[in-house]
Amino acid sequence: MNSARPLLLAGLLLATTDSSGFESDVHYGLTQWLARQAGFDEQSAETIATGDQRVDSGDMQYLELVLAYACVGQEDLGSRLTGEHHYPSAGTVPGPPAARAVLPGGDAAKKAALTVVKVPAGQANYMLFRLGEALHILQDSWSHQGVPDTPQPGGAFFRCDSTRAWGHPATRGGWNSHKADLTMHWPADTRAMAKATYEVLTQYPILSDARRTARSWEEIRPLLDGFITASTKTEKKRWFVSQSISDVSFLEGISLRDGAQPFDLKRKGRKRTGSIHSRHYKRQCVLIPRVPWWLSMWILCRQIFTRGPKSCGKCTKRLPLPSNLLRKEEIESSICGQTGRHLFSRF
Ligand SMILES: [Zn+2]
Ligand SMILES: [Zn+2]
Repeated sequence: MNSARPLLLAGLLLATTDSSGFESDVHYGLTQWLARQAGFDEQSAETIATGDQRVDSGDMQYLELVLAYACVGQEDLGSRLTGEHHYPSAGTVPGPPAARAVLPGGDAAKKAALTVVKVPAGQANYMLFRLGEALHILQDSWSHQGVPDTPQPGGAFFRCDSTRAWGHPATRGGWNSHKADLTMHWPADTRAMAKATYEVLTQYPILSDARRTARSWEEIRPLLDGFITASTKTEKKRWFVSQSISDVSFLEGISLRDGAQPFDLKRKGRKRTGSIHSRHYKRQCVLIPRVPWWLSMWILCRQIFTRGPKSCGKCTKRLPLPSNLLRKEEIESSICGQTGRHLFSRF
């Protein structure tokens, strides 16, 4: 290992220590609640929320992905899919960031939703995941609105390609901040995002022969205030429980502090809501053999600490690791070690 590599590895680690979990309070919890208000039964509401939450891996906690497609590697497919799912814009990749600005509720953001609500009535039961996916894109157009920032986790060591990278816009806090996704900072945007979500849900065809009775938007709008202003996990939990959603384990991964009470629930059905089985995760596995071994080691460290050693599976086998470090136990103890355990446990 030459002297630059440990420094670079340390730089990458430090660059991501502000990152945290996916903001499932919106993508899972709020979507589930809105679906119930729109008249969906509990199980259907959960399915829609799961479909929404599964569109993960495009955000800052998945920084390794942007490293693979826009920094160390340059790969148009990864960049294009990240844009389509999390930064809907009229622009194409590669292309200058200003041409790829995200418009909240714009045509690109609404496209998938407009398609999914046209599903024939007979197929509506089987397209709830797709509905969730479309809602995710629409929702992200509010949190990620503006000109995408270019992550620069490599500092002076390498630059990321601004024509392919997607990061939280500078006007929303920039690539290295979670502010863009935290509802308490953007009450008007969060309300508008919820309203757009609700409109799509109410337009979705009826399931089987079960008619839905949706509450009026005016009736539910004031109820959102407590959700929007909640600034800790305790406050978010309190709101969901007050709204008859008692299983709040989905809040485990969000980046807000615990608050008044320690939050020790473990996310249920992690397989369903986590990224391990998602298309994005598989894509990431395809991409990583092309990155240098030191970066693959960093990716592996993160996988061990964020998803557990078992989750590495096939992905681990594809990593271009040097032969003397092939055993992940050795990597865990030598490279990740106590420092890694400390850093990655925060993701
Ligand atoms: Zn997203
Ligand atoms: Zn985000």
